[in-house]
Amino acid sequence: MPRVKAPLDYLPKWQGVGPCVGQPNIMYGSPGRARATCYSCPVLDDCCEWILSLPFSADPGGVIAAMTLEEREAIHQNVTTRTCRTCGEPKPLTAFSKWKPHAPSRRPDCKPCDKHRRNTMRGTE
Ligand SMILES: [Zn+2]
Repeated sequence: MPRVKAPLDYLPKWQGVGPCVGQPNIMYGSPGRARATCYSCPVLDDCCEWILSLPFSADPGGVIAAMTLEEREAIHQNVTTRTCRTCGEPKPLTAFSKWKPHAPSRRPDCKPCDKHRRNTMRGTE
């Protein structure tokens, strides 16, 4: 069974303005779509502060504040390195670009791999 609880049990008042409210299918569905919802959210910063202030045992799961459950777990565990999805090398978190400048979550590929992939997609190589 996936660990899915009702996020509404935990929500502070400002959450009412978030586009995720009443959209569990989005926030527990594809991480890409859920993140996009977070990035359009006017209370993303509040949400980020709030979810990381909760003990991880109270985390309702799904994407919250543009982070997946795994990403929040890594932050709680103070993980400072991660393995690049493309080259498979463990690197410090700072070697991975953030999805957005103000968001805490980072891309799954390290910066050189990310750049290489973008160049390849543009057909400049
Ligand atoms: Zn890499």
